[in-house]
Amino acid sequence: MYEHGPVNNIKFDLDGVLINFSHVAKCLLHADGYSVNSTTRFKWTTTPALADSIIWDYFKESYVLWRITPIFDGARELVRAVYNYTGRPISIITARPIDYATETFKVIDRVVDVPFSVAITEGNQKYAHLDPGDIIVEDRRRTVLQLAEIGIRSILVDKPYNQIKNPPPQIQRVRGLLEIERMLPELLER
Ligand SMILES: [Mg+2]
Repeated sequence: MYEHGPVNNIKFDLDGVLINFSHVAKCLLHADGYSVNSTTRFKWTTTPALADSIIWDYFKESYVLWRITPIFDGARELVRAVYNYTGRPISIITARPIDYATETFKVIDRVVDVPFSVAITEGNQKYAHLDPGDIIVEDRRRTVLQLAEIGIRSILVDKPYNQIKNPPPQIQRVRGLLEIERMLPELLER
């Protein structure tokens, strides 16, 4: 149950929320003999150790492989349900690099079969695409904490890397996308 009243619109982060982009990057690393260390941080380390810039190259390679990026269970159903409630295009806000705009559009097109818009932004600029009445579905701890500071609400999809001690009231944690779909009548109440 959502305790903080209805919102005007629900917007979405992409990676880690709607699609399992990191799965592809992990497979590419494994194929080259590297394993990704389990961590409670958003940033990756590998064994044997790789420089951040090399790990980043694997991320970029996985953006290109948009055709095989796994879609999280319930993602398609959730965005369709939000569209049915609001009648407005689904708004996706991603911190991917603009150089991968084409691939980003194509992977979103696999998930969202209703009208959508995409904002490609710097990691800490998501607020520029959010209004006070919006709520964003996110997986990154730093992003939701920054947004909470300016009063923007978020739904944080539970991941090992996004645990928060004493989260502010603007952040609501859910276990998965199905839980968000169940919240919609209350969240988007008119
Ligand atoms: Mg994300």
